[in-house]
Formats: sequence, structure tokens, C-alpha cells
Amino acid sequence: MDELSIAMKAREFIAKCGPLPLPVSVDAYAAQIGGVVKQEALQENEDAWSVRLPNGKYRICVNCDHNSRRQRFSVCHEVAHDVLGIPADHTSPSWSFSRRPSGEIACDVFAAELLLPYKLFKPQVDAADLNFAAISTLADDFDASLIATGSRFATFSRELCAFVLSEGGKVRYCSRSTSLRDARGYVRSGMDLPSDSASARARAGIASSGPEEAEPAQWFEDWERDGALYEDVRHLDCWDQTLTLLWFEDEDLPPPPAERKRWEEERYGLHELDGVLPWPGKSKRRR
Ligand SMILES: [Zn+2]
Repeated sequence: MDELSIAMKAREFIAKCGPLPLPVSVDAYAAQIGGVVKQEALQENEDAWSVRLPNGKYRICVNCDHNSRRQRFSVCHEVAHDVLGIPADHTSPSWSFSRRPSGEIACDVFAAELLLPYKLFKPQVDAADLNFAAISTLADDFDASLIATGSRFATFSRELCAFVLSEGGKVRYCSRSTSLRDARGYVRSGMDLPSDSASARARAGIASSGPEEAEPAQWFEDWERDGALYEDVRHLDCWDQTLTLLWFEDEDLPPPPAERKRWEEERYGLHELDGVLPWPGKSKRRR
């Protein structure tokens, strides 16, 4: 099942649940499949588990030690297992992006759609300013994590925009708007944060005073076009995670050469997912 069909299934499911006030009720999603949500003490990196009981009820247990936004995502993820008919494979930790089984990634895609429904989220993205303050407000409104919200924000933005997640000063993940993909703006996974960028400074403990101009060639591979690039950043010190929003002010970029996309995919094979990110694991924590 590809990402688009999973998103479509999630949107069908949301439609069945009726009108959704914000933030969406994950209990209402669970109730739609006869689910009951319980909070339990689970292992530190275990998000949740679920089981269909003989009486027909679907019992969802989430980790009571996780913050409420993470629990909300976990409930949606467990609903996804049932709706998509994908058995759980929670043996590999959820924070390990590269080792995550495809069925688990599918459930994350579904969960992101439930938590930040396209119909409600997209109009707000279109109306929002391009900066982290706007993303933070949206995260509060949708009661979702800053990372999930920022990632989906970039994906749905009409502007040339990217959301970059870095851990330990290295880029781990990047989601891009359609227009930035079309313009072949590509941030390489694994690269170091540009040393004199606002992101690197934020990681070094120097507070950012808001969006500032950035150097496109330092962020984007083989970027040779004009247009002013802006950068806004949030650093989460407890996980050593740096969240960077990048956007171009100039919307009228010339089209790139046709072979560029193929080159990019062959070289990197990056599988981008919107709003689907691993939770940080204990081993990633700065000590
Ligand atoms: Zn799962």
C-alpha cells in the first residue's frame, strides 16, 4: 500500500467519524472501531499496544509516562493497525527511523492524517505566516507535536518551503513542499548543520530572535538559483534535536532540468513521509 492510498483510507475513516472539532478527539476515533483507551505503565520506549477482545471491544493501551501529544499519536497509530488490518511489529523501537518495518510506517502515515486532518489542517497552513511561531500555534490548536506539525506544514505549504529535523547536529529528515520538490530543492540526509547557520547557533545555545536570512547553497545540494532564503529554528535541548524551517521569498524560480529529479532519487532514494517521524529514543538524549 503506498502513502497516498493510506492517506485516502485515513480520510475515508475520518469522514465516517462525523464533524471534528479541534483538537480532534482520538477517543472518538477509537470509539469508531469499538476501541477503549487505557493508560498503562509500559517500558520507556514502548508507545502502545492493542488487542481485539472476545467481547468485540478493541483495547488500546498507551504509555502513561509519555506526554499527552505522544499518547494521542499512539492512539491513532493503534487505530491504524485495526483499520488497515496490519499486525503490529513493535519489536524495533519507534525512534529508529531506518529500521522501522513498512507496516509500522504505514500506520504512522495513517496516524498523522488522523491527528492533523488534511481538510482542517491545509486551510490553516494556507492562512498561516511562514515561521515557527505559526507552527507552534498550529501544534497547540491540533494538540500535536511540533515535529509532526512542522513536517506536515512544509508538505502542504504552497510556498517553497522545507522542514528539517536534525539530531546531534546532523540532518535526519526533511519534508518539502510540492513547489520546492519541483524546484529540486534538496537537503541531504546526514549532512552537518551549516556551521554559521541560525540552526547551528541555536544548537550551541544562542537563542534565535526570529527568522533570518540564510545561505541557500549551504542547505540545498547543487543549488544555483536566485531567491532569498529564510531560516527559523527551534532547538529541543533535551533530545538534542534541531527543527529548522526554510523558505524562499521568491516564488518565481526558473524550472530545473528534467533529469534532476531522477538523479536525485537514484542518488539518495529518499523516502519522504509527511508528519511521520520517530520519537527520540533514550540513546539520542544528550547526557
Ligand atoms: Zn504499530
